[in-house]
Amino acid sequence: MSRFWSSLTHDLKPYVPGEQPRMADLVKLNTNESPLGPSPRALEAIRGEAADTLRLYPDPQASALRAALAAYHHVQPEQVFVGNGSDEVLAHAFAALLKHDAPLLFPDITYSFYPVYCRLFGITYEAVPLDQAMRIRVADYHRPAGALILPNPNAPTGIALSRAEIVTLLEQHPDAPIVIDEAYVDFGAETAIPLVASHRNLLVVQTMSKSRALAGLRVGYAIGDADLIEGLTRVKDSFNSYPLGRPAQAGAIASLEDDAHFQESRARVIEGRERLNRGLIQLGFDVLPSSANFVFARHPAHEGAALATALRQRAVIVRHFSAPRIADYLRISVGTDEQIDRLLSALSDIL
Ligand code: PMP
Repeated sequence: MSRFWSSLTHDLKPYVPGEQPRMADLVKLNTNESPLGPSPRALEAIRGEAADTLRLYPDPQASALRAALAAYHHVQPEQVFVGNGSDEVLAHAFAALLKHDAPLLFPDITYSFYPVYCRLFGITYEAVPLDQAMRIRVADYHRPAGALILPNPNAPTGIALSRAEIVTLLEQHPDAPIVIDEAYVDFGAETAIPLVASHRNLLVVQTMSKSRALAGLRVGYAIGDADLIEGLTRVKDSFNSYPLGRPAQAGAIASLEDDAHFQESRARVIEGRERLNRGLIQLGFDVLPSSANFVFARHPAHEGAALATALRQRAVIVRHFSAPRIADYLRISVGTDEQIDRLLSALSDIL
């Protein structure tokens, strides 16, 4: 019988997240988590909330968090939407904003959740190939489109567009919703948030999972015109009135208040990325110019899958994708200095 019910969804090919193995002494560089901890103030706020108020429902509007995010990003609270990780915010954006008669455009290669949402919500899409250098070419998006979604920096390449290039996209499509997924923006790209004031069709999505080291808390958000936010809220309220639990709302607010911790963590990750880059280049890798907390690299003499397997045998986990154009590459998250050393010494042992 269960086979019958499960067959109702047999056309769905869900997104497969990076694995979360639990082995002692594992160097886990496969899911772009922060190697550093969250703000101690966030941890304290989460503990306090968990100790005192878990029997109470959370604020369904997350008003205090939205006000804090609005102040942080210099927008109004009506321009802020929050959700359970940016994956959920993106899901609501796909459901509320991205279904049109003309196709949704996004890059090929990009975050592989996008085609999954398209299939789930019945959205027609066209994937626009990256150029030879694995870059998004803005001119290639100058074609009829119902909507656009692009990560900036792109994933898994790590390559960023400039704000001027985002402006060009907006000028090409003044009437189509454009979502910029800024999951990794804090590691060196320019945010598009200042463009929200002058572009009513722009929605910028960010997360607290990466630069704020709160992946386990699940806090993501979107900033855009109040009208776009209202559309997202209507979808959210048709789905789950309480998108964020009390500890998540409290922890996210406290994280925003601890700017010193945030600035120091992202600086350390950027330093680590540059060290990782240099080490990989010395070992003969081609490394794409990353503005994210990971690098995308290939070795001219070794297959990506074989390298990933050999690293795993040495207790180092990196991400390998099998899509033909990127099958040679490894995506390696920036770890602590010690993790970077362990990765580099495992690679020099293998090569
Ligand atoms: N967008 C991109 C491009 C990502 O790589 C990720 C992380 N897998 C997300 C969004 C989602 O992150 P989260 O749900 O943790 O906010």
